[in-house]
Amino acid sequence: MSQPVDVVVIGGGIIGCSTAYYLAKEGLSVHLVERDKIAQGTTRAAGGMLGAHSEYLNDTFYSFAQESQVLYSEFQRDAGVDFGYTAGGIVQFACSEEERIALSRWKNAVHLSAEQVRERIPHVAPPAFGAYLFEEDVHVHPEKACLAFCAAAKSLGATVSEQATVDEITLLNGGYQIRITSSVINAKHLVIASGAASAKLVSGLQMTAVKGQCMQLNAVGMQLPYTLFHKGCYVIPRPGGTLVIGATMEYGHTDLQITDAGNLALSAIAERFIPGLSRLPVMNRWAGLRPKTVDDLPYIGRIPGNENMYMAAGHFRNGILLAPATACLIRDLIIGNEMNTERIKAFDPKRGIFHEA
Ligand code: FAD
Repeated sequence: MSQPVDVVVIGGGIIGCSTAYYLAKEGLSVHLVERDKIAQGTTRAAGGMLGAHSEYLNDTFYSFAQESQVLYSEFQRDAGVDFGYTAGGIVQFACSEEERIALSRWKNAVHLSAEQVRERIPHVAPPAFGAYLFEEDVHVHPEKACLAFCAAAKSLGATVSEQATVDEITLLNGGYQIRITSSVINAKHLVIASGAASAKLVSGLQMTAVKGQCMQLNAVGMQLPYTLFHKGCYVIPRPGGTLVIGATMEYGHTDLQITDAGNLALSAIAERFIPGLSRLPVMNRWAGLRPKTVDDLPYIGRIPGNENMYMAAGHFRNGILLAPATACLIRDLIIGNEMNTERIKAFDPKRGIFHEA
């Protein structure tokens, strides 16, 4: 049996690792448990955009996302490691008058005419109604960001167990006993951050998966200064001269196969932004499963009926963006800090937990 701890976090993706970090920073003893290796779940498949404006769902989501962007910039300063935090911003294309009007409502966006888009972005197909630049919407390398949170948590004393699947949770003396592959951990608090697999640990939880495929192109010499975004599709420039093209949205698929249909869809996305782009050499292709909740907002909060048990999962298209803010919300719940009640209500996991009568 391992040492009893204040908190066990189940899941070594971006949500679990950032949660472990912010809890350890408060001086809590933390044990993070991952069934595979750190950052090898959906986190690894993400593009890495911190797209508070491209993924707007409602005002509560928006203020939460903005806070998370600020936390990333602080973490980047404090972590002292490179996790691909890249400024520049996201340029959202307006391909119709309706889209232009919708984007023009943002006060913090810089309007670019079609001509300015052409001048600023080499080789681009300028959008008919111009574009809007959102400078705060930077991007990170998702796997590296997750590993950076994990390393920072460890340096603050957190224990991390990999290749350790949680298969049983029992209540014990007002806390929890967590059975993992080869041992048992006792903890006062438990955080379930197991992404798309969270429903296996919480009975009655509604969580589905939406498959997404991406491809990475060798674009050395191209110098794309911004991420380009239109209607859920994007081209992200990664340091080192590659571009990530994403992503498909495949409902009802729970496999990670790369498909011909996915490849065709990604080539079409690439061509839509920059004609000829799909002819660049493909370096990598991958797929991931976005954890989707009943209303696309994440489940963050107390799990009803279970004292000291929390959920931080179901971040759908926005888990990279929302990770630090999610972690801080869980931290505040555990240590009893004052909290924004609107958020507590909007993200309450009880929205997605149904039990048969
Ligand atoms: P995961 O990364 O899946 O981590 C959960 C971990 O829990 C896994 O490692 C798993 O092995 C572990 N686990 C599960 N069950 C157990 C158990 N019983 N015991 C121990 N461990 C367990 N988001 C953005 O913000 N920006 C983007 O640009 C973006 N692009 C995306 C592009 C694609 C193609 C996809 C698929 C997603 C994208 N996302 C993006 C969404 C983002 O990737 C997810 O929301 C995020 O990675 C979810 O993180 P997580 O930590 O909850 O899940």
